[in-house]
Amino acid sequence: MLATSSTLTVARTVDELRTAVRAARDAGLSVGFVPTMGALHEGHATLVRAAAAEHGAVVVSVFVNPKQFNDASDLENYPRTEAADFERAAAAGATIAFAPSCDEIYPTGFATVVSPGPIGEHLEGEHRPGHFDGMATVVARLLGLAQADVAYFGRKDAQQLAIIEQLARDLAIPTRIEGVETVREHDGLAMSSRNMRLGKTDRVRALALSRGLFAAQGLAALGERSARAIEAAVQVELDAAALPTDYASLVDAATFVPVDALDRECVLAVAAHVGPVRLIDNVRLTPATQPAPAAA
Ligand code: AMP
Repeated sequence: MLATSSTLTVARTVDELRTAVRAARDAGLSVGFVPTMGALHEGHATLVRAAAAEHGAVVVSVFVNPKQFNDASDLENYPRTEAADFERAAAAGATIAFAPSCDEIYPTGFATVVSPGPIGEHLEGEHRPGHFDGMATVVARLLGLAQADVAYFGRKDAQQLAIIEQLARDLAIPTRIEGVETVREHDGLAMSSRNMRLGKTDRVRALALSRGLFAAQGLAALGERSARAIEAAVQVELDAAALPTDYASLVDAATFVPVDALDRECVLAVAAHVGPVRLIDNVRLTPATQPAPAAA
């Protein structure tokens, strides 16, 4: 185990992680946990700061999980910036970085698959076959390894967060799951590790996702309840930027099943391809108290 010059302890193995967490517990500290795939940005740092505000020990894991990539080139091109990740994590308040090899996470004989069921069927589940099984499997294992009091996940991956909340409930995982609001660039683009792969023109075109979501949010605030009308407000922006769309869909916030009307708490979620990069984003929508006036 490597103790860096700052207060960050880098654990490469399960044993090293357990030793570091035990030492924190022995020192009377509670433990927060932020699982990531690295290429850390301000969104991740916000999660780490949220954890550090509540816990004396904060574990940040950096592991690009091959099981959740359904596209080999996406896995191959996924950015890897480990040294900078450790610095950013430490600056945000992490005390332990867990950066394991693949063998450490999936040792010989590893066979269990955690499958989230119906909540993972639509949206990302439909467009990235196997993704949620891979994600849920690694998150279940990481939660078991870190033994944290609270684990922090971003609402940027809203369906992922809902799946993790369900798996923690269903599998009686004692770690509390906490959602953190999406962190955006000044112009609205949701921060993502994949953004660094956007060329200059595509970076501008990518704004269509957040612009569409914000337009739809405005429409909903005015009382629009038709899912088709709300989704069309997103689609029109994606079409204007000529972005191939996987979905722009209004779903129930609890089940992630598509709805016909904004008559409950919903998530408006979008996935689109911007050049070589696939981006996702979402906003939470609640019905306006006043329904839209009927068209004349
Ligand atoms: P990733 O490294 O992309 O797997 O993300 C690790 C964690 O950071 C997940 O819980 C994500 O939801 C969260 N995250 C990623 N981007 C953002 C963002 N822009 N705002 C808030 N959380 C984020």
